[in-house]
Amino acid sequence: MIVARPGTQQTSVDLVLLGPPGAGKGTQAKRLSATYGIPQISTGDMLREAVAAGTALGDLAHRHISRGEYVPDDVIVKLVEERLRQSDCNSGCLLDGFPRTFSQAVALDEMLQKMGRRLIAAICLDTGPDVAVERNAHRRSCPVCGRSYHQKAYPPKVSGTCDDCRVALVHRDDDQENVIRYRLAVYAEQTLPLVEYYRTAGLLRVVNGDRSADEVARQVGVVVDEALRGDESR
Ligand code: AMP
Repeated sequence: MIVARPGTQQTSVDLVLLGPPGAGKGTQAKRLSATYGIPQISTGDMLREAVAAGTALGDLAHRHISRGEYVPDDVIVKLVEERLRQSDCNSGCLLDGFPRTFSQAVALDEMLQKMGRRLIAAICLDTGPDVAVERNAHRRSCPVCGRSYHQKAYPPKVSGTCDDCRVALVHRDDDQENVIRYRLAVYAEQTLPLVEYYRTAGLLRVVNGDRSADEVARQVGVVVDEALRGDESR
């Protein structure tokens, strides 16, 4: 469990997970969260919760999500800003699906700076479009906890049911193949430029996301540990 790194002022561990839909960001974020004891902030999960609750934010989010479009930056930035102020984020957080645009990335830097914090790394799960489409076609998600299963590679113990919540799994509307192809195009246009943004900032770590979840987790663990050691000398 990480709390503080010797020799540094900074006691928080803030990480970004980048990658196209189907890269496995949520799966890896949940594992990292358990390993390092810091919360996963999934903007996708937060928006889906708002949709399920039928709030004004949920109505707005649903219109964008169902079409595979991004929710406007100002809405997302406010959501993350409020979440980061909660006390469980004091030691850091794993940002899963945020930032997705240049202006979100700049807003995140500013938010963390105001809190006397900075990212320790942006981990890009580099995943090819065919793998992404295949994973989304077979992805079934828990509407309660957000856990994802792959029907073939990582099926639930009881077919169609979440192992943890015991509720029926769903195939998300935005995981249908036509929407997924559009989401991949949106990712390439709006989010891929962040790879250069973080490379320039010296924060980028690339992991091959095409491999199995266990193998990716092993590689992600290696780069996080490297980033933690590197941060001490910065
Ligand atoms: P995810 O669960 O991360 O794949 O997100 C599902 C959908 O939620 C995305 O396709 C977007 O419509 C919306 N969304 C999630 N995070 C963001 C974000 N950071 N910026 C804009 N839209 C987002």
